[in-house]
Amino acid sequence: VKQRIGVIGLGSMGNGMCQSLLRGGFEVFGTDLGVPQRQAAEAIGVTLVDSIAQLCQQTEIILLSLPTAQHVKQVIVGDDGILQSAQPSTLVIDTSTSEPDVTRGLAEQLASQGHALLDAPVSGGPSGAAAGTMVMVIGGKEADLQRAMPFIEALSAKAVHLGPSGSGHAAKLINNLLCAAHLVTTAEAVALGQKAGLDPAKLLEGLNAGSGRSAVSEVNFPRWILNNGFDSGFTMQLMRKDVRLAEKLCRDLELELPLSEQVAKIWAASEPTIPDQDDFNCIVKTTGLET
Ligand code: NAD
Repeated sequence: VKQRIGVIGLGSMGNGMCQSLLRGGFEVFGTDLGVPQRQAAEAIGVTLVDSIAQLCQQTEIILLSLPTAQHVKQVIVGDDGILQSAQPSTLVIDTSTSEPDVTRGLAEQLASQGHALLDAPVSGGPSGAAAGTMVMVIGGKEADLQRAMPFIEALSAKAVHLGPSGSGHAAKLINNLLCAAHLVTTAEAVALGQKAGLDPAKLLEGLNAGSGRSAVSEVNFPRWILNNGFDSGFTMQLMRKDVRLAEKLCRDLELELPLSEQVAKIWAASEPTIPDQDDFNCIVKTTGLET
């Protein structure tokens, strides 16, 4: 018999992850509030259910791919949430980019009922999710990680266990803060190059062989920015959330990080001019870069 997994949240990332789980030989049950997301999941072979209670009847391994910590909270402890219907010893694997302190609270609530939560946020975008080549940064107990390992192997090319509950979500916010900064600084650098008469593609070829490179210069610029594609599958709304949460983490820890604060200001200031549903790479349009 195939091992079963339930997925709550069948959006850009959830759909890709379902593809990798199905390819990995698992039987995948799923649910989402959105009709198009449900249809797309059904089309790739996911068995749809209508409620979290129904999902819990099918399996005690549940993966989440939801927009924010508020959605995660709702799905776990809200009315008709996982906590109300879970089979004994249910393991929840939260791949959403969420908030470390919310995660720690939910992990405690689940643990008090004999369940477990791993925070396992991901990077690699919808294409990495569908290819099973994501990077996962994980927080939680070692025994729970071992239990999740077959699924993690189907989803990722690299998984790093950072420590107790919440560590994965903290690491993910830090990663995305860096990515958000790289987008701004690389766009400024390329805009500078354009003003200095350099060809952007040639400049990036040089940067990418040198010490100024990053995932943004190596992947985002050629794939989504210089060709004016802006179709990575990750939205402004979600990245603005991540930058805001990274900034909050700094504040909670009473840290002063001037460059990070400036990056956060730039992302927040983009709100009136760049719509929530636009691609996150659109932030480069605030820098004077000509695309
Ligand atoms: P998305 O908006 O495409 O998908 C989220 C899905 O959750 C939606 O389909 C929505 O209908 C569903 N949902 C919301 N509340 C629900 C509920 N109560 N029950 C069932 N379904 C519900 O977002 P996404 O781009 O797939 O991102 C998901 C998470 O992964 C976010 O936290 C995001 O920050 C993170 N992430 C995204 C990317 C990316 O490139 N898109 C990369 C890494 C991490």
